[in-house]
Amino acid sequence: MAGPFKCPGCGETTWGALNHCPKCGEPLTRKCPGCGGTWRYIYEDDYRFCPSCGTKVEPARLGR
Ligand SMILES: [Zn+2]
Ligand SMILES: [Zn+2]
Repeated sequence: MAGPFKCPGCGETTWGALNHCPKCGEPLTRKCPGCGGTWRYIYEDDYRFCPSCGTKVEPARLGR
């Protein structure tokens, strides 16, 4: 079970079971442009590379 982490869209603290932020609807998972794999945001530190295939993933969009 994942712990709390911050929404990349609005900064609201969410928790691991959610797929979308309850405040702004931002998806709380990342999708790899290379292999299509998805993973969750981990706290405030986003993955920079796909954990499955190593493709570089664009940083989360912050703010607007
Ligand atoms: Zn949000
Ligand atoms: Zn990948």
